[in-house]
Order: sequence, then C-alpha cells, then structure tokens
Amino acid sequence: MRKKIVAGNWKMNKTLPEGIQLAEEVNEKVKALQVPEVKVILGTPFIHLAEVSKIVDPAIISISAQNCATEASGAYTGEISAAMVASTGSTHVILGHSERRSYYGETDAILVKKVAQALANQLEIIFCIGEVLAEREAGKHFEVVKSQLENGLFQLSPEEFSHIILAYEPVWAIGTGKTATSAQAQEMHAFIRKVLTEKYGKEIAENTSILYGGSCNAKNADELFSNPDVDGGLIGGASLKAEDFSLIIAAR
Ligand code: PGA
Repeated sequence: MRKKIVAGNWKMNKTLPEGIQLAEEVNEKVKALQVPEVKVILGTPFIHLAEVSKIVDPAIISISAQNCATEASGAYTGEISAAMVASTGSTHVILGHSERRSYYGETDAILVKKVAQALANQLEIIFCIGEVLAEREAGKHFEVVKSQLENGLFQLSPEEFSHIILAYEPVWAIGTGKTATSAQAQEMHAFIRKVLTEKYGKEIAENTSILYGGSCNAKNADELFSNPDVDGGLIGGASLKAEDFSLIIAAR
C-alpha cells in the first residue's frame, strides 16, 4: 500500500552553508519524531545535493533534485543530467513544477524527455500537475490535469509508472497563502486516481502516492492529509524551517 510522503521543495533558497544547517536540523527532528510510516524527502538546489546526501540518514530521509536535463550528456552548457543527480546520492527528482512550466517554458514534450532520463538513471520522479486560476474559474481544471497526465506520463509502461509520485499543485495556491480547501484537494485527487485506474488499472492507481502542494503548512496539513486520496504533501515555503517542516511530517 502507498506510504505517506512529505517532500520539501526548497526552490532557489538557502546558500550551501544554510542548506547544510537546515538539513542537519531536519535530520535531527525526523529522527526524534520516529515516524517510519512517513517517507521524508528533501528537494534541494543542485549544488546542495551531494553535501546534504552525506548529512542525512538515508534510512529516514531521501534527497531529491528539482529538475534535470532532457539529454544524457554532452555540450549543454549549464545543464545538470539525471546521471549527475543520481551520482550525488539523490534518489528522486521533481519534474514538471509549475514554475518550470511557466518561467522556463517546459512543455509536455520536454517533460517526456526529462522523465525518460530520470527513469534511465533509476531516479524516482515527483511529477507536478495542476491548473492555473483562470482554468479553474472556467471549470477546466479536471481537463487540464488529465491532459498533463496523458501528455507527460502516459507514454510510460506500468512498470515505469510505478516510479512516479504525483503532486497535485493548483498553481493559484502556490506561495500565495491561499490553500485549496480540503474538499477541493480530495475531489481532484480522487479524479486523478480514477484517471490512473482507467489507464493502468486499480492496483497501480491504488499504489500511486498523490501529494498535495500549494501553501500547505503546519496549520492545514492535518486536515488536508486526512483525506483518503491525499497521501502527503509537497511543501515549499514551510519546508525552509525545520520546526514547521517537522510539524507537517507529524501531521496525520
Ligand atoms: P508553497 O510551494 O508550499 O510555498 O506554496 C509548494 C510548491 O511549489 O511545491
């Protein structure tokens, strides 16, 4: 059965010394919490990955990149390949975050290539999907999310799909302090699981973790995570303080 997952997305925050300190604090907090039933992941900037991997106990915390290149290696100045990410001791990569889609023009076609690179390098993928406000207001949110799944992921075989963690992040809730209601989250997560059932069957759909992301914090995590189809969270702002992040990990 699927596990509860709480993943931090540090985005472009923390210098290397600050990141090391945060990772040390989170490691201590998670150790003290003793929550083997929760999978904790830290999504750090690229330059932190190798250092943070040495600090945290891999039995309780996994490390994730926030992006990877579309190509395997070669003349791509400034890019970081999935193989490089894996070589740091990282086991996960976040792909398709709405900030990457909107600020860096990441299309479904680009994401298909990144997903392939990540899987070829044995990385588990936290794949983000979610609608913008205008799409929700136009009643198109289910359609948008379904097409992101179909165009970004449904080329995968069932075995490949077993390496996917989904994160539903309504774009209007990210960093805005405006969380989806518990009912809105559950409604979309149940819809996503239905779409997965139609494509891959009940067993895979039931085993896929679907995280909620978007202004999730220590105050609202309990309610959001209590929904049957919400399997944890992808946490931005509230993952930057060990105390707040550990309260979310402890939420149930
Ligand atoms: P937020 O970000 O928690 O700061 O809203 C979530 C995310 O973008 O992953």
